[in-house]
Amino acid sequence: MNRDDAIKQIKEAMINDEIPPWKAEDEAAKMGIGVPENIAVGTMARRAFVEEKCGHKFYHIELPENPYHTAYRCPKDGTLWTLAADDTYVRCGLCATPLDVLPENERHKPLVNNYIGGVEDYYSYAGEVTVCGDVEKTFQNILCWGPGVGHLGISVGCFKINQYGPVEVKVSDWGQAARNLAFVFDTEDEREKAQALIKENLADIIQQMTQAQLAEWSGEVFEVDFLHKQHHADRILHCCFYTRFADHRGHGQTSHAVGLAKNLIDDLFARQNIKCRISVVAMGRDGDLKPSPRNRRGRYVSAQQNIPIKKFEKMIKRPIDDFLSYIELDRQGVLEEIGWPAYTGMGGEIIPAFYRTMKNNPRPYLVSCYQKVYAYIRGSDLVFGVELPNVEVGITSSPEGIISPMAREALKMAGIHSAKDYATAAAAITLGGEFNFAVRHIQEKMYTGR
Ligand SMILES: [Zn+2]
Repeated sequence: MNRDDAIKQIKEAMINDEIPPWKAEDEAAKMGIGVPENIAVGTMARRAFVEEKCGHKFYHIELPENPYHTAYRCPKDGTLWTLAADDTYVRCGLCATPLDVLPENERHKPLVNNYIGGVEDYYSYAGEVTVCGDVEKTFQNILCWGPGVGHLGISVGCFKINQYGPVEVKVSDWGQAARNLAFVFDTEDEREKAQALIKENLADIIQQMTQAQLAEWSGEVFEVDFLHKQHHADRILHCCFYTRFADHRGHGQTSHAVGLAKNLIDDLFARQNIKCRISVVAMGRDGDLKPSPRNRRGRYVSAQQNIPIKKFEKMIKRPIDDFLSYIELDRQGVLEEIGWPAYTGMGGEIIPAFYRTMKNNPRPYLVSCYQKVYAYIRGSDLVFGVELPNVEVGITSSPEGIISPMAREALKMAGIHSAKDYATAAAAITLGGEFNFAVRHIQEKMYTGR
């Protein structure tokens, strides 16, 4: 069979649910296409399948000429090297000795499981997930991951969880940003006067901040809070500004707006002869890139599914109480190890993979990866959910940097058209991954080969 016919036939079989997307390479081999050509044909078929699912064509997420890896061994030190077939430096990375290629049967494999394209970052197809609630749509899961089977877990997890209907999501309308100022005084009296003066002028300060830095991005200051702290003789006054945006991250604009507020406040203090010893931007209080359950930035999103207990018990082949015991022992473990009642489980891997795929602002997505799994019984249902309290993302352009063509293509193909969609898709795939993970653990199938 010629190559184009094989691609078309495999794609059709996937569209008709006759074979799963991760079997495309095997299917090409069954048609008599030899290694490594079957990998190229399988990848192209899966790419065509994803294009049909999305209704968009790949353009910037390219397919390399040889979309598979080649495995080598260093004859000198015995190290293994699994390299992209298009890599031209075929020497050991430790000692620069020319590498020996491995025997034919272990030489070639796909770049990553379910690979669909990408040269520097390898994109995988991880199924689809349907949501309802604050957002109603089906997302195509396009993810950059390592060479493991993570995206298969997402794919299977999303399929399993959608068998009980769409995943219900709740997501904030706004993404928040925050920046904190601190002032140090020698007396409490001076601090009182300073706070009263700021409060008196707050409306004007906010108006100037909005005009200079926020209005162009449809952002606003929605809250300002004050906090008194002391360190020995230092009487500290914290003053934190909170902003919010619909589709813009707003971190940089918030910082500059608060810088302007500091200048305005310093001028007020000088004019009114307030003795302020230190006036600084004090980021320790505003949660800048520090993960915590009460982060002041980002957007809240949760995704949950109600599963009839009888059906769930049939699937895990044991009583529901065993499952709740597992959830509790893991929750307790994380609480005691890291000191917080919430945790980054699979989410600690899935959410960064999602950020790497979409390549949106922020590039350091640390606070966004904060995640909590919950499970409880309500009536005759198991409620299984995840919540992500601090998802930060900018969908619109930003002075903080461009959105690459590859990133825009990934968003479009996934079906993400707003910051709300972005947070929703992140939560839904995290739920799928966690669900698959939890089920396999309580079935004792995880890492056991059972
Ligand atoms: Zn070597």
